[in-house]
Amino acid sequence: MKYTQAFIPTVKETPSDADTISQKLMLRAGLIRKLSSGIYEWLPLGLIVLKKVEQIIREEMNKIGGQELLLPAVLPKELWVETGRWEIYGDELYRIKDRAGREFCLGPTHEEVITDIVRKEVRSYKQLPLMLYQFQTKFRDEIRPRFGVMRAKEFYMKDAYSFHATEEDAANYYKIVFDAYSRICVKCGFKYCPVEATTGAIGGSSSHEFMVVADTGEEEIISCDCGYGANIEKAECSRTEGKRVLGEIKDLEEIYTPNLKTVDEVSKFVNEKPEKFIKTLIYLADEKPVMVIVRGDMEINEEKLKYVLKCNQIALANAETVEKVLGAPVGFAGPVNLNDKNIDIYADFSIENIVNGISGANKKDYHLKNINIDRDYKPLAIADLRKTRRGDLCPKCQENHLKFSRGIEIGHTFRLGIKYSKTMNATFLDDKGNKNHFIMGCYGIGVSRIVAAMIEQSHDENGIIWNETVAPYRVIIIPISYEGKIKEVSDLIYNQLSEKTDVILDDRNERAGVKFKDADLLGIPIRITVSDKTIAENGVEVKYRAEKTAKLTKIGNILDILK
Ligand SMILES: [Zn+2]
Repeated sequence: MKYTQAFIPTVKETPSDADTISQKLMLRAGLIRKLSSGIYEWLPLGLIVLKKVEQIIREEMNKIGGQELLLPAVLPKELWVETGRWEIYGDELYRIKDRAGREFCLGPTHEEVITDIVRKEVRSYKQLPLMLYQFQTKFRDEIRPRFGVMRAKEFYMKDAYSFHATEEDAANYYKIVFDAYSRICVKCGFKYCPVEATTGAIGGSSSHEFMVVADTGEEEIISCDCGYGANIEKAECSRTEGKRVLGEIKDLEEIYTPNLKTVDEVSKFVNEKPEKFIKTLIYLADEKPVMVIVRGDMEINEEKLKYVLKCNQIALANAETVEKVLGAPVGFAGPVNLNDKNIDIYADFSIENIVNGISGANKKDYHLKNINIDRDYKPLAIADLRKTRRGDLCPKCQENHLKFSRGIEIGHTFRLGIKYSKTMNATFLDDKGNKNHFIMGCYGIGVSRIVAAMIEQSHDENGIIWNETVAPYRVIIIPISYEGKIKEVSDLIYNQLSEKTDVILDDRNERAGVKFKDADLLGIPIRITVSDKTIAENGVEVKYRAEKTAKLTKIGNILDILK
């Protein structure tokens, strides 16, 4: 491609309404334009990248036996009513009516449609397993679209659905998809981290989010060199750190702590570290009061608590309730002296190592010291209830300290089981002639999201730095001035390289400085500069976008730069 013929409307000024680096650079480099809030046009350069990413994904899906199809974007209401999602999906679902008044939605996802196809067409276990996928524009009526194409009302996705005769087959296939997703991340040049979307405690590891590591990521993730990864809200905490170190057990002692309520206040007053404290909280679990204890310097993770308590609603009790339940005001609650108070204690692993601990005395203005588990109180359950924090050990290998980083979710794999096949009554006959529901999996990847995530992960102050596998052009040739001998050499290497890869020749009548700036902004991985000076040495200057320095390469060896 010659630059003068290409449609690359770059912009010098940073767009004022762009809220992320990727959005700014995509607009400035002429990859996209905004048509309306959350709705973007993909211009030629952007589309080249999008299609290269799509092709990487397609190849991996085909490798694992996937078959591509294309489903409609306009979906009839009836199918969505079957699964109850017409109601559940709420305002994010775009709903439309045709001229006859029939209702439809613009598909944000396609479980209903695909299950409908399979229930109509697949009869026997002999036709299984089956994996179908598509690339399509999805729709979501975002209340507040932001981050450019990353949280838009229209986005381009690959969604895949697999159907299996047995749980075992579905589980095995899940691993195969997981590996394919990992390969996609590697091919895109990503530093990535698959994280458990549910913790071991919260129902197995059958759902994973693929996170691209980027400082600007929207979510906090933790990871370990041993391969463990999780979303911070879902991360498990190691019990090893809660191992009890036995010491001299002292007698319980009451301490007068007038008006001192928080761990911090009492800790200063008695000159003991917060680690010695048993922080006591009263929660209402589906309206029933429960006592929850955790080490003084740690915090309760309410999602974990909800899971352990097996309740639907969890909330801290208000001051009035605490006083009614314990007979002491907030700030003086503790696990000892509960007597006839009929309240269960749930303890986090972290309290197991507290010897001669300190907590409230369930009596106004008093705390207790030298509290010891078993002798002074007995929790109903000891479990992982706290939030992960810096310095924690990895719960999997129990050796390394967890790494904290930020990530952008680009893909999500999920074992659906019979969730959709049951509600939609999609069945097949097994080898004994029995009717069974299909066991399903679904696997999504945001293609447009990947493009933005790449830029978030890989850029500098001058522009984008593309990975060679997805760059719109792999090489840009910059003649200092496109005339005479320089033009001749530029054309020669342009023709040679074009046979091997995607090349753009900057034939514009612009100053060299302008061309360099644009090449950096566009993020083309290899830049070749042709000038009288380089020609005098029978060479051209080659500079890789990700590197600082340039080097001279002989014209005759130009194809070597692609190696
Ligand atoms: Zn580890």
